[in-house]
Amino acid sequence: MSIPSSKNWAVEAYVERILQGDRVALGKAITLVESTRPEHRQKAEAILENCLPHTGNSFRVGITGPPGVGKSSFIEAFGGMLTREQGRRLAVLAIDPTSQVSQGSILGDKTRMEQLSTDPNAFIRPSPAGKTLGGVTNCTHETMLLCEAAGFDTILIETVGVGQSETAVADLVDFLLLLLLPGAGDELQGIKRGIVEMADLIAINKADGERLELARAARQDYGQALHLFPAKESGWQPKAVTCSALTRAGLEKVWGLMVDYQGVVNKNGWLEANRKRQKLLHFQDRFKHALFEVFFNEEEAKTALGNAEKLVVDGQVTIAEALARVLAGLNFRKTR
Ligand code: GDP
Repeated sequence: MSIPSSKNWAVEAYVERILQGDRVALGKAITLVESTRPEHRQKAEAILENCLPHTGNSFRVGITGPPGVGKSSFIEAFGGMLTREQGRRLAVLAIDPTSQVSQGSILGDKTRMEQLSTDPNAFIRPSPAGKTLGGVTNCTHETMLLCEAAGFDTILIETVGVGQSETAVADLVDFLLLLLLPGAGDELQGIKRGIVEMADLIAINKADGERLELARAARQDYGQALHLFPAKESGWQPKAVTCSALTRAGLEKVWGLMVDYQGVVNKNGWLEANRKRQKLLHFQDRFKHALFEVFFNEEEAKTALGNAEKLVVDGQVTIAEALARVLAGLNFRKTR
């Protein structure tokens, strides 16, 4: 009897293996999720649907911060503490805004997290943030669900604090951790102002050696600034701490605050409400993409759009009139 090669695994085989925590099956299923080929997508959707009842049981954390702040060093140290001392099973997904494919990207370089990448209780996977189906986060969202089905109870999603991925990640996670450097203002670090307001916890990393005092001062400043923001809907008061991925100082405190946070948002119902809000957002996002896809697959629609664009550019009709003509041609109800 020959064993079927993984290429030909049926959906059921994938699901069974993923639920048993099989990393090979998980990795291959994620590759299907990332694929744009229709037959891969179809299989991915079927796997996801069967895995769905086994998802949602993890604590989802977004980690963002400027390049060089120490995100991967932090995840290596913090993640190791979680798997070894807290008995957690950890999945690390790195969203790489510079890459459309997972291979060969800087963030995908596993050697950045040497210990974690050989830790039996950790799974590291880069997530391409290019023009994947359904926008920046769709791929990562589905990957996260597969990891949950495979029994990972803590998901860390790493993203660089530039571009749009760090704001998008807030709609994927339960908790947002912002890593910052001591002794540099927001502008110098190149992070967007809004991200400070979105954070549930700010950790001033590299609080060691000569930078310890600067880090403490920064923690004080950010701690005060956080109190000036309007109260969060989650009922959680964001905090600022110092830590060092190098000496591991402050890492337990970070985890302690995450545990406190979970206590608050589980009790007041925000965790569940927020996940519902996120699911709705993802659906709406996908719906918009699906509409575009349907639209641009229709030759007639493309022609109608081209004609309408020309009329608008030439100043022959108003934008509203051009829009109405395109929509009327598609048998959609007029929106005016
Ligand atoms: P990333 O770009 O945010 O992922 O940052 P890396 O984790 O690659 O770290 C950038 C540099 O900072 C590396 O040389 C690290 O060794 C160093 N680094 C990271 N965390 C710490 C820390 O807590 N203390 C010190 N002194 N250096 C750190």
